[in-house]
Amino acid sequence: MAQIDSLPPLREVIAEHGLDARKSLGQNFLLDLNLTSRIARNAGPLEDCTVVEVGPGPGGLTRALLAEGAKKVIAIEKDSRCLPALKQISDHYDGRLEVIEGDALKFNPADLADGPIKIVANLPYNVGTQLLLGWLTMEEWPPFWSSLTLMFQKEVGERIVADTASKHYGRLGVLANWRCHTEILFDLNPKAFTPPPKVTSSVVQLLPREKPLDCPIRALEKVTAAAFGQRRKMLRQSLKSLAPDAEDRIVAAGLKPTSRAEEVDVAGFIALAHAFS
Ligand code: SAM
Repeated sequence: MAQIDSLPPLREVIAEHGLDARKSLGQNFLLDLNLTSRIARNAGPLEDCTVVEVGPGPGGLTRALLAEGAKKVIAIEKDSRCLPALKQISDHYDGRLEVIEGDALKFNPADLADGPIKIVANLPYNVGTQLLLGWLTMEEWPPFWSSLTLMFQKEVGERIVADTASKHYGRLGVLANWRCHTEILFDLNPKAFTPPPKVTSSVVQLLPREKPLDCPIRALEKVTAAAFGQRRKMLRQSLKSLAPDAEDRIVAAGLKPTSRAEEVDVAGFIALAHAFS
C-alpha cells in the first residue's frame, strides 16, 4: 500500500479514535491510499484551488488531496467523532486543512472560499444525489466550482452519465448533461471499502459546459419530474397535470405528444421547459 505521508495508517486511526462505521451516516471508509490517491490525481491539478470535501471521515481521501498538493482543503463532516483524527491531519499539513463540523446540506460551498473551487468527495450515499442536484441547479452559471469528482453507487453514476440510448436515462441524466460534460472515471469493488457496501461504486466527474443551452431551471426540474415520474406514459398524459393545454405546449416544443420521456433527449427537455415555463 502507498505511503503518502508519515501519519499513521488509517486502520490505526480508526481504532485509536473508535470510528466504528455508522450506517445512518453512510460510512463506508476507503482505506487504500492507492485508491484515494487515484481519485485525488483525477481531480487535479489542485495547487491553485480550494478543494471542498464532503464527509472526510477518518481522512483517507483528505490526506491524498493534501499529498497531491491541494493548496487548501475545506472538509465538512457531520460526525464529531472524526474531528480529533482530522485535527492530526490539519496539524501535519500546516493548516492547509480546515474542518467544518456540520451537515453539508446546510452549506453553500461558494460561501466557504474565494477563488476557484473543486469539489471532491466519497459521498454519503443517503445525501449524495441531493447534494449533486443542489450544485447542478443553481441559477448562476458557470458555477462556483470548476469540477466535481465524486464517488457514488455505480447505479447512480450510470444515471448521471446516461443519455436516451441508456436504460438508466432519467431526470438526473437530463439535469447533469444539460450543464456538464459527465464521465465515469472508474469503478471500485465493494471490497475496497470498510465495511464493504452491497454494491459497486463509481467515481464520476462533471465539468461545467461553458455555454449550456439557455433554459428556465425550475421549469426543467418540473417537466423532468413529471415526465419521468410516469416514464412509461406518453408525454400528453404525464405532463397533463402541469397545464390544461399540455398537448399544445408539447407540439410547440417540437415534440410528439405520443413520445415517452425516455425517448426525449436533453435538447427536447429544454424545449419542453421553455414551453411550460
Ligand atoms: N471520505 C471518507 C472516505 O473516503 O473514507 C468517508 C466517506 S463515507 C462514504 C461518507 C462520510 O460522510 C462519513 O464520514 C459521514 O460521517 C459523512 N457524512 C454523512 N452525512 C453527512 C452530511 N450530511 N454532511 C457532512 N458529512 C456527512
